[in-house]
Amino acid sequence: MMAQYLDLKAQYPNALLFYRMGDFYEMFFDDAIAGAAALDIALTKRGKHEGNDIAMCGVPIHASEGYLHTLIKKGFRVAVCEQMESPTEAKKRGYKAIVRRDVVRLVTPGTLTEDSLLDARKHNYLAAFSEVRDQAALAWVDISTGALHVIETNATRLGPEMARLMPSELVVSESNIEDYFELETDFGLSLTPLSRASFDSSAAEQRILALFKVGSLDAFGAFTRAEISALGAIIDYLEITQKGKLPLLRAPQKETTGGTVQIDAATRRNLEITQSMSGGREGSLLSAVDRTLTAGGGRLLTRRLSAPSTDLKTIHARQDAVSFTLENGAVADSIREALRRTPDLDRALSRLSLERGGPRDLAAIRNGLNQAEQIGKSLPSTLPELLQVAADAFKNHTALIDLLEQALVAEPPLLARDGGFIAPGYNEDLDEARKLRDEGRSVIAALQAEYIETAGISALKIKHNNVLGYFIETTAAHADKMLAAPLSEKFIHRQTTANQVRFTTLELSEMETKILNAGGRALEIEKRLYSCLTQSILAESGPIGNAASALSEFDLSLSFADLAKGENWCKPVVDNSRCFEVVAGRHPVVERALRKQSGAPFVANDCQLTTQADGAQIWLLTGPNMAGKSTFLRQNALIALLAQVGSFVPADSVKIGLVSQIFSRVGASDDLARGRSTFMVEMVETAAILNQADDRALVILDEIGRGTATYDGLSIAWATLEHLHDANKCRALFATHYHEMTALSDKLKGVENATVTVKEWEGDVIFLHEVKKGAADRSYGVQVAKLAGLPESVVNRARVVLDALEKGEREGGKQRAFIDDLPLFSIQPTPPPVVQNSSEIEEALADIHPDEMTPREALQALYSLKEKA
Ligand code: ADP
Repeated sequence: MMAQYLDLKAQYPNALLFYRMGDFYEMFFDDAIAGAAALDIALTKRGKHEGNDIAMCGVPIHASEGYLHTLIKKGFRVAVCEQMESPTEAKKRGYKAIVRRDVVRLVTPGTLTEDSLLDARKHNYLAAFSEVRDQAALAWVDISTGALHVIETNATRLGPEMARLMPSELVVSESNIEDYFELETDFGLSLTPLSRASFDSSAAEQRILALFKVGSLDAFGAFTRAEISALGAIIDYLEITQKGKLPLLRAPQKETTGGTVQIDAATRRNLEITQSMSGGREGSLLSAVDRTLTAGGGRLLTRRLSAPSTDLKTIHARQDAVSFTLENGAVADSIREALRRTPDLDRALSRLSLERGGPRDLAAIRNGLNQAEQIGKSLPSTLPELLQVAADAFKNHTALIDLLEQALVAEPPLLARDGGFIAPGYNEDLDEARKLRDEGRSVIAALQAEYIETAGISALKIKHNNVLGYFIETTAAHADKMLAAPLSEKFIHRQTTANQVRFTTLELSEMETKILNAGGRALEIEKRLYSCLTQSILAESGPIGNAASALSEFDLSLSFADLAKGENWCKPVVDNSRCFEVVAGRHPVVERALRKQSGAPFVANDCQLTTQADGAQIWLLTGPNMAGKSTFLRQNALIALLAQVGSFVPADSVKIGLVSQIFSRVGASDDLARGRSTFMVEMVETAAILNQADDRALVILDEIGRGTATYDGLSIAWATLEHLHDANKCRALFATHYHEMTALSDKLKGVENATVTVKEWEGDVIFLHEVKKGAADRSYGVQVAKLAGLPESVVNRARVVLDALEKGEREGGKQRAFIDDLPLFSIQPTPPPVVQNSSEIEEALADIHPDEMTPREALQALYSLKEKA
């Protein structure tokens, strides 16, 4: 057996081998050590290999999915090795024959299909990147739904694409895998090397043609060599991992780069589109706008938010669908009711195609198609184009629905193994076999009554277990009577346990054979019917897939309408102009959070970035910390994004000329994991924008330059703004601390000042969150620090320092001199703490430069001052 194990293991050096032994998957040697540690299960040993103990651990079959899940999450791949015959069959080949085993599947992060291993509302993508001479392409597939896509791209755009798709696994050529190591850490994906042969475009073409049974690829569109190679690599990898059993794949869809708004990884993180900064779904745009009711609708929403369209026709068609559902409230309500009951057709179909399905998947197809047909029937005769196309996919499923309705019971069991899912009346042979089996059971009940009488033992019972089959059982107290004549002539002794004695009779074993035969036959028939039904479904996989997509499309349109109505959102005008007019815009996530936390209203704000033919339009936003600058910046980016997704938007009215790219950066956020300093990250990201933004880009820069000394930072921010204005000529929002920059509005025609207003009242600052034209009069840093709970003594002292600095600036002298002239720090809090070590404190104070500190550093400094006291 070890020879067999080692043989199999040698074929999967990079995976843990789950070696099937009876009811367990066992792991041996190093696999066992790694597996036991990862799963926190007991490590044991078994036998010896070359004189050493063999480490071993195992997981029971029935709980194996959970363990698989943990292993995949921890970055392992698992080769699942099954017994290909029963021990009895093996014995027939020879007394010492080992049960034949083979790996039936290589489980990797990108090739999961089990419901329990997947998030229902998220796609699980497997991607492949290929470079052929000077072309490159990325292909990706969700094997749990069969959707297959490809796009022309290049190595630099690979990062943004990973950020959009978030694949769990990326396949690249083994020849240059080290070029992609960074992606693994950046996007938490698993990088898989594949031989160069798998990327060969001629072989790839053959593979695709064979898979889709077509003579030429033209049927799917025109593909580049790189695209064909990437698609081919995906298919090859699926063949390797699924051991030749390919999942149902839909025809490859070619995406064009310009077709969607370009959003890079930093912007996605920053705008918290599908994930919040902390990594979860909560707090993201996705979670704030998701009102979909089906898993497929949820996945479609994520896809759309990740890739807003740049095609006016597409955007308008989606908007029309939302408007239509808003106007037809009653129909919409009844469809939403039906959607609530709609199962995940895509994933059921995929499991059936991979032979990993069960009777519940058959029922899911039945129920899903049924709902689709019902929805189709309830629709009005005229529909907007998008919904009309979808509605057409709801038709022509009647034959399959009827078949499944007749064949299946209402609520079938999970596994086909035990039968019981075919409805009575569907198949005569099955009914017959079941009748025999059930009659047998009642005969047995009658036998028990008869034996009780014959033996005169009322505690006698007929029972069943897997070892003995049917047997008669009495307590030990009656054993002597049963073992003596005349009863011993009829009752044959089988087994004595501590308290019981077990017997059988000729009649009982005959009856048992009959029942077993009938039961076995019934099971066999059910299994055969199961494959027939699966075949009938797979034959219709195209139309079923279309119905599934159509259900998702309806779900999404209805959910957008529900959101628009519930949240009072408006339909944005999206056109080819260079407009950007938002009236009374709101931030969908902050508004929701405020409502939940304090019930405080969100202050709506306008934004006007409409540009002339070839000019830039930039708002330079100043205002104290906490006033709402970041919120304002992001809300406008999110409004543009939602508008091009085809959704309504959180505002009173919006007019937007198509946006081609969205860029968003925030000054100074640590990226220690990648070993870059805060400031370096900030500059790398800013450089990316200045180099890439075209005149249709929407750029949002929040406190760029704050990661370095004041004058450096100011100069960089200044030059960046000029570049955006003169070279990129885009629409932009630029929030800054540097009040000096407000002077730029006089110099650059496309720059306007705006500020988030605050009111000062008795030395405190009150945030009004209103955005107005003009520059902030001052930064209110000291007041904000006071709000943050800085001790009164420090706040007072800061005021003195600030006054002196401002006075100095007005009088045009050197700063050092004013600082020297400052009266000494005199703390007079109530009650005053005793300052013992004043000279040390003075030294520390001399090293503190409030202007160059973040609030956090200031607080830290304060703590250390306090410690010295
Ligand atoms: P800044 O970027 O100016 O430091 P933020 O945008 O982070 O400020 O806003 C700080 C807080 O103020 C937010 O978390 C939110 O609670 C509140 N806020 C911001 N904008 C608004 C608004 N328009 N209406 C109501 N509250 C707001």
